[in-house]
Amino acid sequence: MQKFPEDTYKVGVLGDGDLVKYALKKLTSGVLKYERANLKCSYDYYLILTRQFNRKKQLDINESLFNIDKPYISLIFEPLTFSAGPLTIPQQTSCLNCKLTSEEENNYYGNFLRLFDDSEKESSEYIPEELLDLGINFINLQFLKQVLQETGQAIEPELAQTIMEYSLLDGVWIERQLIKNSRCEICFPRNEGSQIFEVKL
Ligand SMILES: [Zn+2]
Repeated sequence: MQKFPEDTYKVGVLGDGDLVKYALKKLTSGVLKYERANLKCSYDYYLILTRQFNRKKQLDINESLFNIDKPYISLIFEPLTFSAGPLTIPQQTSCLNCKLTSEEENNYYGNFLRLFDDSEKESSEYIPEELLDLGINFINLQFLKQVLQETGQAIEPELAQTIMEYSLLDGVWIERQLIKNSRCEICFPRNEGSQIFEVKL
């Protein structure tokens, strides 16, 4: 490594109130400064931190951050599992809506998942602190890698076009590729009047 960055980079955190509060209490780093995101301020990066079934919140925040046009990472928890990623560089790499769209397509219950998209009711399941710690510390490291890459170090972000899932029960990390989903209306806005060409294979 040539040189460790001396500047401080600000990360705005958005998502489930209790998870955000917990993460802000735990995450301290010399390089990265985490704050509850205030939409009047600008940040170098953003973190989406919610439970899996709070899909409306995930979709709303994803759309807002995509339009702010700064890199952001999604960290989604279930009681005994979390899914870290993707790292979204708007216009370039896949987003959280790509992930949700791909999950619907690959899941027998896909249409059922969509029922949660408009739900204002918030899920607030208990998540063990040990699992939260593992997830947020893993993400902290990913932001550091992003800083190092942007400051010219030859380090590739792990979560671009990729999701890492950790399951407490199985005790394994699973890596999934997540390319941009052509049905994602955030990455591929449907402009009225524009024609969409589909390639038939
Ligand atoms: Zn997308």
